[in-house]
Amino acid sequence: MNIARILLLLISIAIAIGPIGTALIIYRDNLVDLVVPPEASEVMTKFSTEKPSATFEKYEYNESSRTVTLEVSITNPYTFNLVINSLSADVECTAHHFHLGRVYSDIPQNIPAKSTTSIEMTVKWDEGVEAHIDSDHPGQSSILVDLVQLAADVQGINVQLQSRISLSDPVPIR
Ligand SMILES: [Zn+2]
Repeated sequence: MNIARILLLLISIAIAIGPIGTALIIYRDNLVDLVVPPEASEVMTKFSTEKPSATFEKYEYNESSRTVTLEVSITNPYTFNLVINSLSADVECTAHHFHLGRVYSDIPQNIPAKSTTSIEMTVKWDEGVEAHIDSDHPGQSSILVDLVQLAADVQGINVQLQSRISLSDPVPIR
């Protein structure tokens, strides 16, 4: 396993999921629509004017368990505290719906209003990821990925998206 290659992919995904999960709270007044959204991407554009942002801090990986623990600092632009109790999603490549891994955070974390806090995320990648990239994405320096079955408990509100969410930016793989 070439860890450096996989890490690029995982870090990009971890940075992307934090803001998506925390932004869900903004839609809490209309949760019925959120639980069964007509188009998840349509929902997400509603947050585009003001949404949390994330930057990668550091990581630790464990090759034998195929997990990476990442610290991502999230900026909360809102005037209220964000409490993220849990966040998880499966990650698939857009082209083949190949399951690449799972990203999750299950430690309750508080991001105070108008401030930046580090949160911990774990990514577990599948054994076949490198082989899939070699055989089905030869020569590509980045790929498009989707988040599937995104589930979040933010502020004690449980949200599970049935639609897949495509990350707008390709993630680097080489
Ligand atoms: Zn693929």
